[in-house]
Amino acid sequence: MSVTATVRVLPAEEIAARAGGHTAPYRWPERSTFFAERAMRLRQLAHGHAMGDFLLFVARLAEAQQAALERLGRDGGVAVPDAAAVDRASLAGKPPLAAADGPRDPAWQGVLREIVRALRTHVTSGPAAEALARLERADEVFLDRQADALLNGVMAGLDLAAAPVVAAALQAQWTHQVIELVRAHEARGPAGAQAQTQPVGMLDDTGICPCCGSRPVVSIARSGGDASGQRYLHCSLCGTEWHLPRGRCAHCGASGSEKIAYLSLDRQDGARDEEEPEASARAARATIQAETCDACGHYLKLVHGEREPLAEPVADDLASITLDLLVAETGKQRHGINLMLLFGDPDGAAADEAVNPGATAPPGGS
Ligand SMILES: [Zn+2]
Ligand SMILES: [Zn+2]
Repeated sequence: MSVTATVRVLPAEEIAARAGGHTAPYRWPERSTFFAERAMRLRQLAHGHAMGDFLLFVARLAEAQQAALERLGRDGGVAVPDAAAVDRASLAGKPPLAAADGPRDPAWQGVLREIVRALRTHVTSGPAAEALARLERADEVFLDRQADALLNGVMAGLDLAAAPVVAAALQAQWTHQVIELVRAHEARGPAGAQAQTQPVGMLDDTGICPCCGSRPVVSIARSGGDASGQRYLHCSLCGTEWHLPRGRCAHCGASGSEKIAYLSLDRQDGARDEEEPEASARAARATIQAETCDACGHYLKLVHGEREPLAEPVADDLASITLDLLVAETGKQRHGINLMLLFGDPDGAAADEAVNPGATAPPGGS
């Protein structure tokens, strides 16, 4: 496979805007399907995949997350900011469920133990089983330190093999909180002309999640309803999707075809498009592209949900690490972060420098 270079396209948003289309600013996670769809897609992608065992491990993790999310919906027991707290955060320009520096409901540790128990029945040997055993024995202080490291993007001291499981618990809790926040907003209904039309406001930095301040995993073009072809960034922690027009860099906000380009894997093992014009057409039909920015040297993947209806941001990102490896060869840095697969050196560097794919093998095995 090779990288097919530089397909420059008219953003679909621009087409929609010209047609007078309306774009929903957010897409919210659905409690009954959110992690189940991820698990299903991971199982599908695992067939014959070089990282098949790891994808199946994350699928089992997603199934446990789905069960935890549904249980949280029945039992509650996790604090959710009220309307006044959301307004205060909004006025301060901060996300209402700030992951890095906000308070964290200790209930997440109960979610973690629930997920570990569910996985222990399936994962009985290998590094993943050892990581689960470590988590089972771990005390609250250790677990909180792991969560702090993960949510602040610090690799130092992180148990890399246990990190996907810790992250899974945090994702389940944050996703639950977002769903409840949206539900409370909708329950309040229209309360006069001054009422907020959306549960949360947009942040100045459109490259991070407006609900929790985390970076996106990837972006995804959504089809159906009023989202036809619109591109949304998918939060790595809480699952919120927020709109950012295609052709605009998620890292620095630059736009314009002289700065933004699209790279994709050429599955035909073909030549670069200057050598073979057909490669360019194939790249324009690829399910996943890397949207690269020459202004800041970063990139974010774009998953084409309108070309592959079952595409799921976390699953399709994990299954296309080859694209990251090839883009890394061009010197571009990844803006997206996938908590299921962190790269870096737990003895040193900060994740901001270390999330780019490198030599570290993924944890996993089933
Ligand atoms: Zn978020
Ligand atoms: Zn940029």
